[in-house]
Amino acid sequence: MKKANKEGLHSTETPHDILTRYMTEKGMRKTPERYAIMEVVMKMTGHHSADEILTMMPENFHVSRGTIYSTLALLVECGLAHSHHMEVATLYECAYERPAHHHYICTGCQKIWDLQDSSIEQAASKVKTPRFKKLRCNTYIYGICNICQAKLARLKKKMEKEKEENITKEEKRFARINEELAKAAEWFK
Ligand SMILES: [Zn+2]
Ligand SMILES: [Zn+2]
Repeated sequence: MKKANKEGLHSTETPHDILTRYMTEKGMRKTPERYAIMEVVMKMTGHHSADEILTMMPENFHVSRGTIYSTLALLVECGLAHSHHMEVATLYECAYERPAHHHYICTGCQKIWDLQDSSIEQAASKVKTPRFKKLRCNTYIYGICNICQAKLARLKKKMEKEKEENITKEEKRFARINEELAKAAEWFK
């Protein structure tokens, strides 16, 4: 008997089995490139862009960007990977036999961290969703990491001293996070 885990995957199936079953169902070609990309993603820790994953490929595998993107989409569809759509890129992480978790993201440097806190699930279970059965809950908490907080503080000082024309566009964009922080302080206590 195969047991289904929380994510609905059959835990006795290997990632290889899951990918093979999915591609068979969809009538897709089972290319060695797709399996090689899957192997890399299964070994990955943390969250990585398609370009980063491309650099992790074994040297004897010359896969195109297109193949990387389509295979990553395939891995997400069959439940072996999760994707996170960030401002600058989509990041992927292994989902096979890894506990479900939430994330927090720095809007300054776009770094992403894992977050495990059952109070999020508890809150979600209390939320009423009329005529709607809940399946799962993914939470992203956006904020500013300590490195970007220090960067913001330095920028604030610079903006007080320097003339408008000496402030770059990027610095102005970054400084706007301060306004967001001030607003957030009103309701995030
Ligand atoms: Zn940051
Ligand atoms: Zn994660």
